[in-house]
Amino acid sequence: MVNNFSIAVHGGAGTILRSTMTPELQSQYEMGLKDAVDTGYKILEAGGSSLDAVEAAVVTLEDFPLFNAGKGAVFNNIGGHEMDACIMSGKGLEAGAACGVGHIKNPVKLARAIMERSPHVLLGGVGAEQFAKQQNLVFEDDAYFYTEQRYQQWQDALKEDKIRLDHSEKKFGTVGAVALDQLGNLAAATSTGGMTNKKFGRIGDSPIPGAGTYANNNTCAVSCTGHGELFLRCVVAYDISCLMEYKGLSLKEACDLVVYDKLVKIEGEGGLIAIDKLGNMEMPFNSDGMYRACRNNIGRYEALIYK
Ligand code: ASP
Repeated sequence: MVNNFSIAVHGGAGTILRSTMTPELQSQYEMGLKDAVDTGYKILEAGGSSLDAVEAAVVTLEDFPLFNAGKGAVFNNIGGHEMDACIMSGKGLEAGAACGVGHIKNPVKLARAIMERSPHVLLGGVGAEQFAKQQNLVFEDDAYFYTEQRYQQWQDALKEDKIRLDHSEKKFGTVGAVALDQLGNLAAATSTGGMTNKKFGRIGDSPIPGAGTYANNNTCAVSCTGHGELFLRCVVAYDISCLMEYKGLSLKEACDLVVYDKLVKIEGEGGLIAIDKLGNMEMPFNSDGMYRACRNNIGRYEALIYK
């Protein structure tokens, strides 16, 4: 008998307002999400690992220009791209992460290389890029990361001297995946361009194990999206795992408490995707919407944006 397996992905928790979303754009987003979830699902279906599934799903999302990660990453204050990523395995709590890196086509691959081929967990900036070169990861020039939409958002933010989460008023953007494989191993990965117009080497929650990304075979795997500063302060991903481990809450109870209560109390807008060791999946958010999709071997298959 095949053990249950499942995967969930997200493309950020701040969506374009329903009023400005067109049917064409909505179907592009849904296609991007389905493509990512299917990529990971096929790996799980063939007996592959959850780690491979979340990495492949996040690569698909990084390559998709509408999401804020890899191609399509937001501009920082000086017109560059500084990206953050993390990957974590629930089996042995191994983790790898990179922050503030430029020109790397798929930051999640760098995170995985750091996890598997360095003695460290988190590498930043120039050093992380040097390590990526040693590992023969693919680099791209500025033109690859340029998208007109992100450029305009940066120009608008510059005019107002605002630091923005992804785009327009309350928009977030990040991509992530969580999965459970047939062997019962959980994994999580997150990748982001961070905030439009960010300064001073700002790093959010995404690359920090326990804050924006976490996986533990005893409890759950989580990938977050939202206002990173608040997610850091709430140690969101680890808190969900702890509520399950120490308090015996179900995945849904833990997610609901953190997203709809604890985060709301400090105005922490955003959401997350989470999966437990039985394959249950939750995708809660307290923002207007969250680009999200999930698929399992017992017939659940959805791609959604709004509530
Ligand atoms: N959490 C990410 C950050 O703060 C942004 C996001 O998810 O939209 O960098």
